[in-house]
Amino acid sequence: MTYDPETATFLIAGPVRIHPRVLRAMSMPSLNHRGDYFHGVVAEIRELLPVLFGAKGHQVIVTGSGTAGLEAVYSCLVPKEGRTLVLTNGNFGDRTNTLAHRYSNNVTTLSAPWGQPVSIDSVNAELAKGDVKAVCLVHNETSVGLANDLQSLAPAIRASGSLFLVDGISAIAGLPFPIEAWGVDAVVAGSQKGLAAPAGLALVHLSDRAVAALHPGAFYLDLAAHLKSIEKNDTPWTPAVPLFLALREALLILKEEGLEHRLERTHRLAEASRAAVDVLGLELFPDRRHASDTVTAVKNPTGMGDPEFRKVLERQYNILLQGGQAALAGKIFRIGHMGIADWPDLLVTFAAIERILGKAGTLPKPGAALREIVDRMP
Ligand code: PLP
Repeated sequence: MTYDPETATFLIAGPVRIHPRVLRAMSMPSLNHRGDYFHGVVAEIRELLPVLFGAKGHQVIVTGSGTAGLEAVYSCLVPKEGRTLVLTNGNFGDRTNTLAHRYSNNVTTLSAPWGQPVSIDSVNAELAKGDVKAVCLVHNETSVGLANDLQSLAPAIRASGSLFLVDGISAIAGLPFPIEAWGVDAVVAGSQKGLAAPAGLALVHLSDRAVAALHPGAFYLDLAAHLKSIEKNDTPWTPAVPLFLALREALLILKEEGLEHRLERTHRLAEASRAAVDVLGLELFPDRRHASDTVTAVKNPTGMGDPEFRKVLERQYNILLQGGQAALAGKIFRIGHMGIADWPDLLVTFAAIERILGKAGTLPKPGAALREIVDRMP
């Protein structure tokens, strides 16, 4: 078998597999993006966005990938006066740090080794020093398969009075994320992750406080301009019309499934993946207590780099997993099990991994990984 994108088992950490309904939704003739039909599409999307965020609020759609949403938030909300605190423990946290430095001259960065949690005491200590006007962090660090503990971090951030700005790109519709209870001011979701729409749109949720604090940011990504337009079911610039059609359908599918149900399935798939990894004699990359439910990151089997492992999965078994980023390239592999990923995807994937390890003579117990998955199926 060779890799076939039409039939592959597709479990990279986003973009994720897309439902055929969503693919079909994009196949429409050109629409007038200033016409009534398209305004109706935007109106429906606005009705549906609270299903995605699990909260009502000021919500806009930015044409551009997740990073466009992040740049919109940081350019319009990272304060010009006072300190900005950034937490990082992976590649996307490092990118947040780069972005924050682009828009502030007064950034304090708290780093932990990739895959390890940032110490909550150190965050509290920085906040206690005062003058922190914004805290920026990644909820789910996709690069290392780690979920940062927002539940524990939120109270002190909230109490400090600073803006709480979150990269939720691989967390939204994948991890429990009570935006309002945690007092988060801005959250960015990416269309290509838990929502299972194509890549190319960023969805941004803002609190009242955030809206009041907006200042002019990057011109194309100016959030005030986006908010003003969406009030009229419009967009400031020419939007990616087919992606909006896909977004509407993906949101409808999420509504039909229910956010709670999607979170529950994602969690169970993650638990099954971790249990299967254990019995294969493999090791999770991140601190296990903080392992993500949307992405499982695993150290490569001993003696196998990407050519011996991930590329065999792709070329021989038509299964796509993701590799490591930056210094982790060739050292870890990542299984994305968010969006519409389901049990058959895991069964096929772990069956092939068992076969590869079996051929290498390093499979502890044939069938054990599949047993772990089957026993957790509903
Ligand atoms: N932040 C996180 C947590 C991500 O997972 C990603 C992409 O995987 C990004 C930011 C960047 O998003 P994009 O590639 O859609 O611009």
